[in-house]
Amino acid sequence: MSFMFPPSIVPSLPITGSDARFPVHRIYCIGRNYADHAKEMGAQAVSRANPVFFMKPADAVVADGGDVPYPPATRELHHEVEMVVALARGGRDIDPAGALDRVFGYGVGLDLTRRDLQAAMKARGLPWDVAKGFDASAPVSALRAAAEVGHPPHARLSLAVNGEVRQQAEIADMIFAVPEIIAELSKLFELKTGDLIFTGTPAGVGPLVRGDAFHAELQGIATLEGRIA
Ligand code: MN
Repeated sequence: MSFMFPPSIVPSLPITGSDARFPVHRIYCIGRNYADHAKEMGAQAVSRANPVFFMKPADAVVADGGDVPYPPATRELHHEVEMVVALARGGRDIDPAGALDRVFGYGVGLDLTRRDLQAAMKARGLPWDVAKGFDASAPVSALRAAAEVGHPPHARLSLAVNGEVRQQAEIADMIFAVPEIIAELSKLFELKTGDLIFTGTPAGVGPLVRGDAFHAELQGIATLEGRIA
């Protein structure tokens, strides 16, 4: 068997303290997972019955230190700082009690969003793909192995832009905790080794413009730096 042209290189992320890289299979995201952000977006009372999921293409990842090109077709690029979960193993219908056993490690990322397009899609009841799944829409830090840092129940999540703090929160405030997110996603998709999960953003989302430098941090676990080019 041969390919008619060389297949694309598998997107990957560095792993802190290792020469091996983490090959990215899919990128899942949960929306409205912090009450203060759901409120600022004008969502109705947040329901624990219906988690909101969407996806980004795997090749939307941008590794730490990389330039993020300002995307086309928007005048309102927004930052959403989020804890990122990296899966070592997947499965279907995963029990929340065993879900953390599937986690390879953790990082911090930006769920970059073309907010103007998202608002237009929401208003017309249309899918969010063009607002969320664009090229370079998923800057992610180097991953930190759970074997090293455990599964943090608490950690401060923060984002500074040009040195000014824009978002900060405690991950314990997530509406769906990591085991519940994995369990819920695995009812809808067969999760696989190499999947990343963006776990939602707290309040304080706002615009990024060309030249902005961002510094995201999941305290004690990972940092992410980059620039909007
Ligand atoms: Mn988000």
